Amino acid sequence: MNPAPANQNTALPSSKKRIFIGLLGLTFALIMLLTLLGGWVATIGLKNISPSLPLIAQIITALIFIFLSGIIFTLVFAVIFEKELPFSQRVRGLGIKLFLPLMEILGPRLLKIPKESIRNSFIEINNRLLVSSHRHRIKPDRLLLLLPHCLQQSECQRRITTSIDNCKECGACDIDDLVKLARNYQIHIAVATGGTLARKIVRDHRPELIVAVACERDLTSGIHDTFPLPVYGILNQRPEGPCWNTRVDIETVEKTLQVFLCREA
Ligand code: SF4
Repeated sequence: MNPAPANQNTALPSSKKRIFIGLLGLTFALIMLLTLLGGWVATIGLKNISPSLPLIAQIITALIFIFLSGIIFTLVFAVIFEKELPFSQRVRGLGIKLFLPLMEILGPRLLKIPKESIRNSFIEINNRLLVSSHRHRIKPDRLLLLLPHCLQQSECQRRITTSIDNCKECGACDIDDLVKLARNYQIHIAVATGGTLARKIVRDHRPELIVAVACERDLTSGIHDTFPLPVYGILNQRPEGPCWNTRVDIETVEKTLQVFLCREA
């Protein structure tokens, strides 16, 4: 089942918080260990060059430690209390660029957490941070609803990746309702077959915000690749398996659009 949009009244399930915070803690501990080890090795080596260099190395190590600790505590605070934070956007960026790739490597190996659960938890946290940091109303023509090709009914011959206007709105798949939704809210809507086409669509439309529907893997890589452009992720449903006649909860999509489009200016 698709999660409800992360507006101010919904709380993240605690299991998703636990996965994210647990992995964040593990990643942080390993980075700190490596930083302290690197600082210690540098201190020993630099002593032979100049007596003042070890002190400089220690100061740099301490600054990295304080900086990363600040990021981690801000992220953990945001996740636990689900509050708007100063620098939410930057913190979200560091979470995406620095910690997510490490969490994806460490989680399955050290804690035996499936990659899909890590990505699922990350998408929810990203959505939450995005909603709390984006408090102004988005103009409809600056919002792009980006859809995966697998939502299209597999036997449909209409070339909706060229233009979604080619959909004849027959009702055989969720593209029909999504086209109507986009028309109703006057937002841009497009279908991508993969990352290259998605990037081209984003370049062409230059949105302020993307609401993207996809699986865990594609949403995670999309959020990562398009940063700092914000992407709100909605998971698709896969009743016939991955990449084939997938579905999406239309109500969830509509509520998400309302969160960003109907917000007080
Ligand atoms: S709604 Fe009908 S015409 Fe449109 S993409 Fe789906 S199957 Fe094709």
